Amino acid sequence: QSFEELGINEQILKGIYSMNFKKPSKIQERALPLLLSDPPRNMIAQSQSGTGKTAAFVITILSRLDYSKPNQPQALCLAPSRELARQIEGVVRSIGQFVDGLTIQAAVPGAVERGARLQAMVVVGTPGTVMDLLKRRQFDASQMKVLCLDEADNMLDQQGLGDQCLRVKQLIPGQTQILLFSATFPDMVMRYAEQFSPNANQIKL
Ligand code: AMP
Repeated sequence: QSFEELGINEQILKGIYSMNFKKPSKIQERALPLLLSDPPRNMIAQSQSGTGKTAAFVITILSRLDYSKPNQPQALCLAPSRELARQIEGVVRSIGQFVDGLTIQAAVPGAVERGARLQAMVVVGTPGTVMDLLKRRQFDASQMKVLCLDEADNMLDQQGLGDQCLRVKQLIPGQTQILLFSATFPDMVMRYAEQFSPNANQIKL
């Protein structure tokens, strides 16, 4: 199967090919048809790092945006550390480099000026900073279409981060597509994941 056959838009395809990805990796081949189908379905995906999971959720995010609203946050990706958030931001910028009008912003400690509003379609951040911005009304999450948690085991597991993720979820629309990606889902975490991302397609590599 090719990326074209998945129905991915041409500008995103250009970004994918510029990264030298020739065909979908195993996780992408299994996840993308489900991730991109309509109506959007939640997903819980277990996959080691190095398998191409970042590109899978980045392609999904880029495919779901309404490009007529460049200043409106529409996708949020949460990661447990600022380093990982920055890496994901980089992947969004790379795969999205040919997408007209795409706007991306990092919401990690120190990255957002005090009082400034987030005005990007894709926000990639850490739960604490994102929660602060939401509380201060610098971040309008009312039009969110996709919420993605990377290293979900690390976030749903820790008391603090898990609470923050849950509070973020309470502030986004009920029909937001929720994606959880993780290398492992211990039983306890899986129980929490199934509440966080209800009726999700589950895939395991
Ligand atoms: P990840 O699982 O997100 O940590 O990605 C692991 C590595 O695989 C990254 O360096 C990606 O650039 C690369 N990668 C992702 N998708 C593909 C693909 N379809 N073909 C080749 N390399 C890929």
